[in-house]
Amino acid sequence: MSGQEFKRALGYANAAFDLLKRSGIPPYPQFYELLYTYATGVNPSLNSRINAIFREGHAPSADLAEALYNEFLKSDVNDRITDVSERMHARIEAVHDAIDTAMTTASAYSGSLQSASGDLEQDISTEALQSLANRLLLETRVMQDTNRALEQKLEASRDDIAALQRDLDDVRRESRLDPLTKIANRKSFDEGLEAAVAEAQSGHQPLCLLIADIDHFKTFNDTYGHQTGDQVLRLVAMTIKSNIKGKDLAARYGGEEFVAILPSTDLEGAVIVAENVRRAIQAKELLKRSTNEKLGRITASFGVAAFRPSDTPSSLLERADRCLYAAKHAGRNKVVSENDLAEQHGPKDGVSAA
Ligand code: GH3
Ligand code: MG
Ligand code: MG
Repeated sequence: MSGQEFKRALGYANAAFDLLKRSGIPPYPQFYELLYTYATGVNPSLNSRINAIFREGHAPSADLAEALYNEFLKSDVNDRITDVSERMHARIEAVHDAIDTAMTTASAYSGSLQSASGDLEQDISTEALQSLANRLLLETRVMQDTNRALEQKLEASRDDIAALQRDLDDVRRESRLDPLTKIANRKSFDEGLEAAVAEAQSGHQPLCLLIADIDHFKTFNDTYGHQTGDQVLRLVAMTIKSNIKGKDLAARYGGEEFVAILPSTDLEGAVIVAENVRRAIQAKELLKRSTNEKLGRITASFGVAAFRPSDTPSSLLERADRCLYAAKHAGRNKVVSENDLAEQHGPKDGVSAA
């Protein structure tokens, strides 16, 4: 984490604590998360709701905070996992019950057979034999019925469990995607980067990391509204995704920031990818869907860093972030790579004064 990033995060944390204290909301992790998210401004609909509450002169009470947390931050993926596991549990219970019934019936049946075999060892009258045969026939039917019921329950369970398995696979897939843009989320990115760094380290393969941030996006949102802003985020995500291939992974890093992991790609190649994305974004003339109103164009800035053997995921990310910062500083709508940074700093770079 860069010093600048640390300062920014600390600023959000302090703002979240102030709001918790001022509103008398208990600083439980979920309420802290709610107000931290508010402080960052990454969830515009949450912010407009909280701002409206403040405008009306209220402070968000603990109850309200809970409702807001459930509405905006609680992951419905968790709810769906709970739902699937509850259904799985109910299904397993039902199968257990059916097996228990079948076992009880089978053991009663076996008892009857044993007692019948005892009876048959003695002299037995024709009437008694007849009644014994009738009893066994009846019990055999009961046994058959129970077995059929068990078979049906197992059959139904097999279909149910297959459906549950599909649901679980869907939940698992969704938990790796950003709900807005449907590209990989931060969690899959973190895992992907860790794996890519490990592979680059052991396989001595090149690896590059690209980070992109939409330029002046706050102004765009303020001008055209967050829903249109959300459309732009989808468009940028798709543009990045369609410019990468194979083992590459594009993800939404947060807010209006995107990342792409480019394994087996050297810095030159990664700069070409970033340039292609930058040009493609700039080339798109934005139209408001509902009215066909022309919204002009947006641009994005890019930082590109190449893996070094001493890198950890966070040191690589930090260098890419520094390049992005330099691209913003140089006027935006630019790609800055580590090579550009090295040129800027010249031979002094890396030399410390005594
Ligand atoms: P810069 O060129 O320096 O990056 O300026 P910026 O305005 O893009 O940067 P800043 O960090 O000030 O603002 C980022 C904005 O991105 C704030 C918020 O309005 C917007 N944003 C973040 N997440 C979302 C989102 O999920 N939907 C929408 N519509 N906007 C978002
Ligand atoms: Mg940003
Ligand atoms: Mg931005």
